[in-house]
Amino acid sequence: MNEQAELGKQLIKLESNRHKPINYRLILPSAALEVSLEFKKALKSSYVKWSGQFTYLPETLNGTFVMLDADYRIVFKHSIGEADHSWIEEQMNWTDISEGHDAISICITEQSAQIVEGVSCAIPIFLAPHEELYGIFGFIGEPLQESMDYLFYLYTYGLEFINNLVLLAETEKNRKLSREINKREVLFLASRRLHSLISTEAVLTEVVQSLKSVYPIMSLDLYLLQDIQSASLPIKQLDLQKMDNAMYVRAFMDDQLVMEQYLGVDMGTIELAVPLSGKQGVYGVLHMQCETDTLDPSDIQFISMLADSGGSAFENAKLYEQSYLLISELRLINEITRRLNQSLSLNEIIDFVSAELIQIFGAEYFCILQREKESDRLAVQATNMPAMFSEYFTINSGFSGVVFSTKEPVIISDYWASPLVSSKLMEFTGGRSLIASPIIVNEEVMGVIMVVHHKPSYFSYDNYKLLQVLSGHIGLAMTNASLHAEVKRMVITDNLTGLYVRHYLDEQISNFQKEDFCGSFVLIDIDNFKKINDTYGHQVGDQILKQVSAIIQNSVRESDVAARWGGEELAIYLPHIYKEQTLKIAERIRQNVMKETNPTVTISCGVSDWNWEDEKISVETLFYKADMALYQAKNDGRNRIIMDSL
Ligand code: GH3
Ligand code: MG
Ligand code: MG
Repeated sequence: MNEQAELGKQLIKLESNRHKPINYRLILPSAALEVSLEFKKALKSSYVKWSGQFTYLPETLNGTFVMLDADYRIVFKHSIGEADHSWIEEQMNWTDISEGHDAISICITEQSAQIVEGVSCAIPIFLAPHEELYGIFGFIGEPLQESMDYLFYLYTYGLEFINNLVLLAETEKNRKLSREINKREVLFLASRRLHSLISTEAVLTEVVQSLKSVYPIMSLDLYLLQDIQSASLPIKQLDLQKMDNAMYVRAFMDDQLVMEQYLGVDMGTIELAVPLSGKQGVYGVLHMQCETDTLDPSDIQFISMLADSGGSAFENAKLYEQSYLLISELRLINEITRRLNQSLSLNEIIDFVSAELIQIFGAEYFCILQREKESDRLAVQATNMPAMFSEYFTINSGFSGVVFSTKEPVIISDYWASPLVSSKLMEFTGGRSLIASPIIVNEEVMGVIMVVHHKPSYFSYDNYKLLQVLSGHIGLAMTNASLHAEVKRMVITDNLTGLYVRHYLDEQISNFQKEDFCGSFVLIDIDNFKKINDTYGHQVGDQILKQVSAIIQNSVRESDVAARWGGEELAIYLPHIYKEQTLKIAERIRQNVMKETNPTVTISCGVSDWNWEDEKISVETLFYKADMALYQAKNDGRNRIIMDSL
C-alpha cells in the first residue's frame, strides 16, 4: 500500500515533470491471486459494468491491453478502438510470439515499466507481500493523441483492473465461505435427522432434500436395487442384469464414487455417481449431473459425506423395517398355522386360505390347484375367477405347470412385458403381477397356489418369500385334512364289501329318525351260505359277499345307506319312503342277485319301516321288525322278501 501511495505522490508531480520516466509498478494482493484462475470468467461477466466506470480511458485510443502471468502466458486480452490484434491470443506465451523489441518483452527482462514510443508500453505486476514478479500488464498499439502520457494511462487502467480483481476475489471468497457454512449446516442437520429415521423412504427423502437445498439446479436420480414405491422421489430401478457400463453401475459394483466431465461448447458438464452403502452392502447409487463450475473439491467431499451418512442410515432403517416385517410375518404365520391346525376339513381350509390370500397379499385374484390322484392333471380347487371354476391343467402348461415341474415358486413382475409362458389365469384376470408357489408335501408337488394383481410390479420379494412359507403350512394342513378324511372313511367302511359298517348305519338311522317323518329298512341274508363256503371254500364265499354288496350298492340311491350288518348279513336304510316302495327295490335286488352272482346264490330279505306317528321310534324296533320278517322269509322257503306286518 505504501508503494501505491508513493506512486500517487509521484503522479502529482507528473504535471511538472511529464517526460521523466517513472518507475510504475502494480501490486497484486495475494487475495486476487486466488481468483486469478477464474478471474477471466468473472471479468467477462462484469466487464461491461467495469469498463463503463473507467474514467481515464480516452476515446481515441487504439490497441490491446494484455495481462501476462509469471510464465508470460497471456491470461487476459482486451482490444479497444479499431485495433486489430487478432494474432494475440489468450493462453499464448509472449516469448513465443514476440521478437523481443517491444515494451512487454523488455519489461520481462528489466522487471520495470517500459515504453516504446507509439508501439507498446508495459508495467510489471508484483505479488504482495514478497514482491516477486507476478506478471506484466501491457498495451500494444498507439494513442491518436500525441501529447498523452501513454504509460500513465496504462498505469491507471492497470490500477482499476487490479482493484476490480481484488473486489472479485473478496466477493468470491465470501461466497465460497457462506456456501461452505451452509453445506456444513446442511450436513450437520441431515446427519442428526438421518440417524433417527426408521423408514428407508424417509432416509432417501432426507438425502435428496439436503442435496436439492444446496444444489437447486442439479439433476438428480436415485438408482435402487430394492423396489421402494414413492411418488416424490426420483427413483429408478438399478438393473444390474443389463450390465451396461453406465457409471452408476460401476459406482455400485466398486462401491466407489465415479466422476466424469464432459467439455461443452460454452460450459462443460460434470456427472457424479455416488454409492449409498452401509456396513453390509451397497443399496443404491445417487446419480447427479450439473455444469462443471457448480462443483469444486469441497462439494465432492460434501456429497460423499452426505451419501455416507445416508447409506448407513438407509441400512439401519432397512434392518429395522426387515425386523419389523419379520416379526409381523412370524405373527401372521403363527396365527395362520394355528387356524389351519384347528380345522380338519379340506373345504374349511381352502375357504380360510382363500380369504387370507386376498387379505395378506392384497391380491385381486387367487387360484388354488390340486394335483389329482393317479393323474397328471392339476384341478382348480378354489378361485375367485368364475371362468376358472372346475378347470383342469396339464402339468406341462401355464405357470402352474412351470411351478409343478421346477418345484420352485415363481414371481412375475409384468406378464405383458415377457409373456414367455401363456397363462389362462393371467388372460382371464387381465393380471400383470403374479406369484405362484408349489404346495409340497414329502418332496412331491401336491398343488399350486397363485395370486394375481393387474398392476405391474405389484408383489414384493417379501410377498414371494411369504407365500412360499405359507404354502408349506397349507400343504401340511391339506395333507392332515385328507389323512383325517381317509381315517374317518376307513372307520366307517367295511373292508371286504366297501359298504358302511354297522355302527355307522346305526348312527345314520338315529339321525334320520330325529329329522324325518318316515323311512324304511331292509335286512338281507344270503341263503345257505354255509354250503357255499363248504363247497367252494371261504375265498369264493368272500367273492360272493362282494358281488352281492356291489349289486346292492348299484341298486340304491346316493342318499340311501347300505351297510354290512355282520357276517353274511347286509342291510339298507332308505329315508323318506315306506316299506311298500322299498319292497320293489328289494325285489329288484333279489332278482339281480339270482341273475348276476357266480356261483349263483339267492337272498332272503325282511323289510320294515317307521313313521312319525309310531308310538316308539327307535333303531332297535326297526331292526327287530325286519329281523322278524327275515326269519319268516327263511321259514317260508328262502329266496323271498317278507314285509314286516307288525
Ligand atoms: P341260511 O341263512 O339260509 O339259514 O343258511 P346259512 O348257511 O347262510 O346259515 P347262517 O346264516 O346261519 O350261516 C352264516 C354262515 O356264513 C356262517 C359263516 O360260515 C358264513 N360267513 C359269515 N361271514 C362270512 C364271511 O365273511 N365270509 C365267508 N366266506 N363266510 C362267512
Ligand atoms: Mg346269516
Ligand atoms: Mg344265511
